[in-house]
Order: sequence, then structure tokens, then C-alpha cells
Amino acid sequence: MFNSKSEKAEEFICHDEIMDTLAYGKENENNVQLIDSILQKAETLVGLNYKEVSVLIHACENTENSTLREKIFKLARKIKEQIYGKRIVMFAPLYVSNYCVNGCKYCGYHTGSCIKRKKLTQEEVANECRAIESMGHKRIAMEAGEDDINCSIDYILECMKTAYATKNGNGEIRRINVNIASTTVENYKKLKEAGIGTYVLFQETYHKPTYERLHPSGPKSNYEYHTTAHDRAMQGGIDDVGIGVLYGLYDYKYEIIGTMLHVKHLEDTFGVGPHTISIPRVKYAEGVDLSLFTNIVSDEQFKTIIAVLRVAVPYTGIIISTREAPDFRDEIIGLGVSQTSGGSCTGVGGYADRVLRGGSNASSSCDDQSTAQFKVADERSESEVLKMLLKNGYIPSFCTACYRAGRTGDRFMQFAKSGDICNYCLPNAMLTLTEYVLDYGDDEFKQLAFDVIAKERQNIANPTTKAKFDEYFERIKNGERDFRF
Ligand code: SAM
Repeated sequence: MFNSKSEKAEEFICHDEIMDTLAYGKENENNVQLIDSILQKAETLVGLNYKEVSVLIHACENTENSTLREKIFKLARKIKEQIYGKRIVMFAPLYVSNYCVNGCKYCGYHTGSCIKRKKLTQEEVANECRAIESMGHKRIAMEAGEDDINCSIDYILECMKTAYATKNGNGEIRRINVNIASTTVENYKKLKEAGIGTYVLFQETYHKPTYERLHPSGPKSNYEYHTTAHDRAMQGGIDDVGIGVLYGLYDYKYEIIGTMLHVKHLEDTFGVGPHTISIPRVKYAEGVDLSLFTNIVSDEQFKTIIAVLRVAVPYTGIIISTREAPDFRDEIIGLGVSQTSGGSCTGVGGYADRVLRGGSNASSSCDDQSTAQFKVADERSESEVLKMLLKNGYIPSFCTACYRAGRTGDRFMQFAKSGDICNYCLPNAMLTLTEYVLDYGDDEFKQLAFDVIAKERQNIANPTTKAKFDEYFERIKNGERDFRF
């Protein structure tokens, strides 16, 4: 299928194709008729191809086109709410090891970094999980640096087993997404057997020369192996994979087209695109000089990136993290974001330390940064983030139902595309929020959440679902847990 001259990754992330697409976008940035037709197409929820995306990002960059950006922002919000309603899925990253053999120039884990190296024992993993559960989380993203000796696949599998087995009152981890380095089909099979939710791996940059410059040493320096990781994960049976670019490493327009080509490749090859797209921006990290990065994206460019991706891939989860500052995060949630983290620790062992210091609602501001991968910008506690979401009319969701009911990969996408997902997401979001309120919410939270639930209950369209929801809601209030549609 692939010719012998170029490697597989360069077949689907084809530099010349990206450059041609960028030129096409630039040529058409003022083509009002074409732009209108692209927006009309996006409104029908069929998504956009990479050429159309190129036109939109160039048109948005043209400062005379500020009304277009507002139009796209509104459309992004509308599309997200049409498909997923007001729910925002919550998760917590759990860093289990920061040992790393890679030399990534932007990352606090790089080999020359003087961060304190640490790997959690299983007892510490359990302590972290209990602390995360005491914050109300049911979904974690397990993270680790790459080091086959200090942090083998068997260690990750053991951590997953511990996390799933650790309960704290009504708290439990119901879904573990895993963000570890590119690995073999055999290892992906093992992750699948251990109950992985989504396998997440960021491309960092699709621009090969930049990738090679910023990853000078270690296994991650192999662009080909890294870029084809999601293919191997899917071959290993993992239906849900997550992709992402670390914005700031290279030109964001190139990266968006690279992202679209990656989406297309996964759709063409496996019949389903990525389950999620994460949108991180590079932040200060130990031993990293941010001034060397000349492609840092501004807040306005970042808003365009989120909104354009939302309209282009309407069914894919879009994730933003605590890398973004509080006020800005509150603003960009409305541009089509569907998942976010709150009260995050990027240090190894940070959650249990925090609970010991100030309880599960303590802000993350005084976390020990000596083991962290980068510095977070939103240091609010989980409950502060949740209250912000509720006040802005969103429903924070701790739902993990789709993956546990086998609605993954193309089965998930069928539900999403038929519009049926709203009959699951909305009631599941409200049921898991009710669990949260009863187990962890203070009085202000209870008031806010029950007001939102009373209002949103009206939006459950299917009468049978509504009746079942009412039954489950009462049973949760009476102490039962874990109902789902
Ligand atoms: N094996 C993965 C690795 O070491 O890259 C583990 C996941 S890592 C914890 C998650 C992601 O954090 C990386 O893929 C990278 O995009 C991001 N990251 C690394 N350094 C960062 C920085 N200085 N600012 C923001 N994000 C960063």
C-alpha cells in the first residue's frame, strides 16, 4: 500500500499536501462565497475536510474578518450543545512516574532536568486514588514519562489494577485513560485487557524537522514510531484513541492541517477517527527556556483553534486542561470544549500530599512542583471549577457509561451521529452529578446543582428515559450508586 521511498507516517502526514493545503487556504481567505458555503456545511454536523479547515483558519487570521470569528465561535458552541448538550466531562490526571529517557526540549521530564525523580509504589498509587476519589472524580488520565526499566508496561498495568481496585467510601475509579509513550501492539493488547478507556498520545508537532529538533534523543525521537502509535493501539484492540498537538512548538496552522490529516487517516484505516483531541499549549517547565519557542500561540489564536476543530470534527471530544488560566478557561469552555480537568496535580504523588495539607478542596497552588512536568495555570480546587461550570449553565459530568456499556470506537460514533447520544449523555451527566452532590458537595454546591438538574431534566426528550431517570435519581438520593443509561 505504501511506496518504499517514504515511511508510513509521511504517507498520511504528507508535508507537501499540508503546504499545498495552506496555500489554498491563504488564496481563499477572502472568498466570502466559499467561506459561507463551508459554514453552511459545518452547520449540518457532517464535519469539514482539511482544505475547508485551511480556508477557515486563514480567514480567521485576517484581522478584517473579526465578525467571521464570532460566527465560528457561536457555531462551535451550538454544534457541541446539539450533540452533547451542556455536559462537560471531568477527569483528573494521575502522574505515576516521572522517570524519562527522552530529551524532549519542552518537557520538565527531559533527561538533563534536575526535577526530583519519583515513581509511586502501589501503596502510593492507592493513596493518590483515594485522594482523587475524595475530590469526586471517577475518571483518571494515568500519565508517565518513558522509561522501560523504571516504568515498564507491567508497572503501568499494576497501577491500573490498583486504581480500579481502590475505593474510598462511595468513591471509585470507573475509567482509566492512559497517556504513555508509543509502544508495541502487544503492549496495547495488554492495556486493553487491563481495562483502558482511551489511549492518549500527543503528536506534539506534525512538522517532522521541528519534531526531530525538539526530540533529539531517546525512543521518542523516532517520528515514524511515534506518529504511527495510534495505528498500533487500534490494531491492539483499543477502539478509543486520543490525539493532540502541543501548541507553541510549530506554526499552529500547519498543526491543524496535520491534525485533520491524522483524523482522516484513522477514519480511512479503521472506520473511526480519534475519540478525543486534546488542545494543550506549552507552559513553563523545569529547565525549559520558553523564549526559545517562537510559535507560542496567542489567546485569540487559541480560541480560533478550538472553535475551528469543533466545527470540523463535531463528534470528537475536545479537551482542555489546567494549563490554561482560570478566566480564560471559563471563556473557552464555551467554544465547543467537551472535557476538562479540575484541581489537577502534575507532580508525582501530589494529590495525597494535598489532602494531608488542606483537604480535598484545597487549591493546588502550594503543590510540590519539584516532581512536576510543567506548571499549571488554573490552580482552583476541583469544587471551585465545578461551581464555575454550574454558574455558567454547564453540567459537570462524572459519567463513564459509554465505555463500560461497550459504546466505544465506531459504536460510540454511531450513537453520536444519530443524535442518540444526548439521550445518554444528559441523564448520565445528571445522575453522576447527583452522586457528586450527595457525596462531596457543600450547601452552595447542592443548591447550584439541584437547580441545574431540575431545569435540564425537562430536556430529556424520551418519556421512558425521563421516567427511568426519575427512578434512578430517587434511588441515588436513597444511597444507591452507579446507575447508567
Ligand atoms: N509519555 C508521555 C510523555 O512523556 O510525553 C506522557 C504524557 S505527558 C505526561 C503528557 C503531555 O504533556 C506530553 O505529551 C506533552 O504534550 C505535554 N507537555 C510536556 N511538556 C509540557 C510543557 N512544558 N507544557 C505543556 N505541556 C507539556
